[in-house]
Amino acid sequence: MIKGLYVHVPFCNIKCPYCDFTSIVIDDRDIYKKYVETLKKELSFYSGEDFSLETIYFGGGTPSVLEPELIGDLISFVKENIKTEKELEITVEINPKTYRYEDFFKLKEYGVNRISIGAQSFLEKNLKILGRNHLSEDTVKTVEDAKKAGIENINLDLIYGIQGQTLEELEQDIDRYLSLPITHISAYMLTAYEGTPLGQQVKKGEFFLPEENLLEEMYFLLNKRFSEKGFFRYEISNWAKKGYQCKHNLFYWNHTYFLGIGVSAWSFVRNKRFGNTKNLDDYMKKIREGKKPVLFVDKLSTEDIKREKVILGLRTVEGVEENLVKNKEKIDFLIEEGYLRRKGRKISLTEKGCLVSNYIINMLT
Ligand code: SF4
Repeated sequence: MIKGLYVHVPFCNIKCPYCDFTSIVIDDRDIYKKYVETLKKELSFYSGEDFSLETIYFGGGTPSVLEPELIGDLISFVKENIKTEKELEITVEINPKTYRYEDFFKLKEYGVNRISIGAQSFLEKNLKILGRNHLSEDTVKTVEDAKKAGIENINLDLIYGIQGQTLEELEQDIDRYLSLPITHISAYMLTAYEGTPLGQQVKKGEFFLPEENLLEEMYFLLNKRFSEKGFFRYEISNWAKKGYQCKHNLFYWNHTYFLGIGVSAWSFVRNKRFGNTKNLDDYMKKIREGKKPVLFVDKLSTEDIKREKVILGLRTVEGVEENLVKNKEKIDFLIEEGYLRRKGRKISLTEKGCLVSNYIINMLT
C-alpha cells in the first residue's frame, strides 16, 4: 500500500553554493504550468497501484516559486484520481519571501496544513555566507503570515557548522528559532558536497568547516536547548513538539511505501526502489512520449530489506528491532561505549551515537 506521495519541484530563484539537490534557476510561469500538467500525467501512469495516501509532500527546489493555484490544482487532481485517507498531511516547502498571507490563505483552502521554511539562520552574516537571498526579517514575516492564515504546523530549517561560527552565535540563532510560534525544527550540519561551489572552495582551502569537536558541541547545544523548550528529537536531525513529527518523513524511515513524482524523484513501491531522470528536458520528453521517466530500478532482496530497515530505522529515536541487525556481536560493545541504547527488543542511537551515525550503522550492517 502506497501511503506517501512526494512531488519534486525543481525550480529555484537562486542556486545556493552548498546545494546538491536537483534544482534549476528558472523564472517562467509557462514552464511551471507545463511542469504541473506533466506531473499529473506521470501520476496517471501509476493509477493501477494500491494507494491509501496519508501524506503529500511538495519538496524541491523551491515549490513556493509556483503560484498557490498550481499547487492547489495538483492536490485536487491527486484527490480526484487516487484513494486518499480523510486526514491528509500536506506539506509544502517554502522559501522566505516567496509567499505572503494571501498565498498561505489559498494554500490552507487547498488543504495544505504543514509548511517547511528554508530559514537556515537568523544571523545576516550566516545568510550571506550561505548565499541565501532572504533576510532574517523575511523568515519572521513568513512565519507570521502563515500563522495568520491558519497554518499551525510550521517547520524551520537550520544550518550549523558555518565557517567562523561560534557557539555563542549558534545560541543567538537558537534563541530566535525558539522565540517563534513553530512546531518543528530540522537542523543540518553544513556539508561540502562534491561538485558544488562550496565543495570546490573547501577543496581549494578557501572555505573552512569547523573542527569536529566544535561540531559535536554545537549538536549537543541544539539538542539541549530544543528539548528544554519541548522539542524532542525523533530523528538525528529533526526535533518536534509532541504530535508534530513529520508523518511523511517518518514513512521514509519506517520503510513504508511511497511514490515520488517529478524530476529526480525517488520511490519505494512493492520492494522496489526506483528513481527518475535528473534532467528536466528528458523528464518532460519521456512523459510526452507516454513513458515513465524512470532512470533505474533496484529490486530489493530480503537481505537488502533487512539492511535498509536497520539503516533507516536507526536514524529514528524509536530505533530498530535488534534481530534485524547483521553484526549482532557488536551491539553490546556499542552499548557499553555509549553509542547505542537498548529498550525491549529494540536498539537506538544515543546522542553520542547520532554524531557518528554513519560509522555505527556501517558497523552493524
Ligand atoms: S533554495 Fe534550496 S533547493 Fe534551491 S538552490 Fe537553495 S538550497 Fe538548493
